[in-house]
Amino acid sequence: MTAFGPQSSNHSAPVYNWPVTPKHQIDGFGIEPPLSDVAREFQSTLRKFAVNVARPMGQKLDRMSAAEVIAHDSPFWGFRKEYLDLGVDLRILAEMPPLERSQMFCILFEELGFGDGGLAISIGAGILPQYLSLLFGNEFLIERFPQDLLGCWAITEPDHGSDSLDPRGTLRHPGTAYGRPNLVAKLHKGKLILNGQKSAWVSNGSVAEVCILYCASDTGSGPDYQHGCVLVIPLDLPGITRGKPLEKLGQRALPQGEIFFQDVEVDLDYVLAGPEEFERAVYLIHAEANVLMGATWTGAARAAYQMAHAYAHERRQGGVPIYRHQMVAYRLFDMFRRVETSAALTRRVAHYNQAADMPALQAAMAAKVTGTEIAFSVASDAMQIFGGNGITHEYPIEKILRDSRLSMIEDGVNDFLSIKGGYYLMQDDLP
Ligand SMILES: Cc1cc2nc3c(=O)[nH]c(=O)nc-3n(C[C@H](O)[C@H](O)[C@H](O)COP(=O)(O)OP(=O)(O)OC[C@H]3O[C@@H](n4cnc5c(N)ncnc54)[C@H](O)[C@@H]3O)c2cc1C
Repeated sequence: MTAFGPQSSNHSAPVYNWPVTPKHQIDGFGIEPPLSDVAREFQSTLRKFAVNVARPMGQKLDRMSAAEVIAHDSPFWGFRKEYLDLGVDLRILAEMPPLERSQMFCILFEELGFGDGGLAISIGAGILPQYLSLLFGNEFLIERFPQDLLGCWAITEPDHGSDSLDPRGTLRHPGTAYGRPNLVAKLHKGKLILNGQKSAWVSNGSVAEVCILYCASDTGSGPDYQHGCVLVIPLDLPGITRGKPLEKLGQRALPQGEIFFQDVEVDLDYVLAGPEEFERAVYLIHAEANVLMGATWTGAARAAYQMAHAYAHERRQGGVPIYRHQMVAYRLFDMFRRVETSAALTRRVAHYNQAADMPALQAAMAAKVTGTEIAFSVASDAMQIFGGNGITHEYPIEKILRDSRLSMIEDGVNDFLSIKGGYYLMQDDLP
């Protein structure tokens, strides 16, 4: 007791029991509130997988050609096998109560993204056909497609990118029409006959075994995308062929490529959502997928932040580790703040959407746009902290910068999602 404080000793035990010079050390994984034992174990397993398997494999695949990435002896298949060996069970995930499911879903993709953004997207697109069959409760499709089959999600077409995410044409210019679809499912004698193609951007498109597919439907009066359909189909049906694997700037570990359909006959059992349900299905699927993107790129942003934080302690300039320079400390704090913003928003949206009767697509879009913009900006700031080393292949930062740049286009260009999200905020004004 000093002369500056109250002189009475009549105090109850303090709620706070800090040292007199308080300092809380936050590790590179940020401000994670306590998790349940199951969630903590899940996170820890995935984190080890991310650092020991996904990141080194992603770096190796990044230096290979697109054809080498999908060759039978590629490390891509070793990565995939090791992921499957983790035993992540989509059925258990789909049946969890909302809070637990949203938390596990975010942990899964944050950790995969922390390892490698492109490989995380390969896993994400890879589970979509089976995961959505589970969420839609379609027992035929659940039984038909085991979880170890590699999936893809084929939406966009050579002539339809952004507008394929907008079946009702909310963002379409006045007086314009959707135009000719590149893939049409025509109803003929109780079967669907598919003709056309999907774009070169389809993630896992060149190697997937099962596909969740959007197409215009034709019930006799011509192709209609507004009332299209969503199918889940095997990709070994007669008449299906693949294009060349795509060479690109980033996410090079993720194989992408066209899928072609010529007179492909599909039973109606493979319809996940028919013309009357198409708009609702597109809405629900994107609400899931946009959260997946938010979580994945939160993980990638955290990786860039963690690497920059470590480097700022190792690298010395002007006689001190560079973190002692004010601008570096400022930049690290700003990166930390953005990574935590992305994590908090994505988990909040995931929980809100899982608990709600109907998810809010605009909320999922906010998580996607925020997560991907933050990943790119944090990777860019990490490159600044790494200085000249940041631009070389010796360090992992330039790869995260390339990978995250693509994320602002994939799953819907951020500009387009933001305009559409804005319209959803004013829902009453929509056509
Ligand atoms: C890494 C990666 C992975 C992908 N994975 C898949 C996948 O798994 N499956 C799949 O089907 N597709 C996938 N895509 C494709 C992706 O969804 C499209 O690239 C995206 O929707 C944009 O379409 P686009 O490339 O045709 O661009 P466009 O639609 O031609 O847009 C070009 C530009 O015009 C702007 N624009 C277009 N229309 C409007 C509008 N109405 N209002 C305002 N601005 C507009 C856009 O914002 C953009 O800046 C992937 C793409 C990438 C980069």
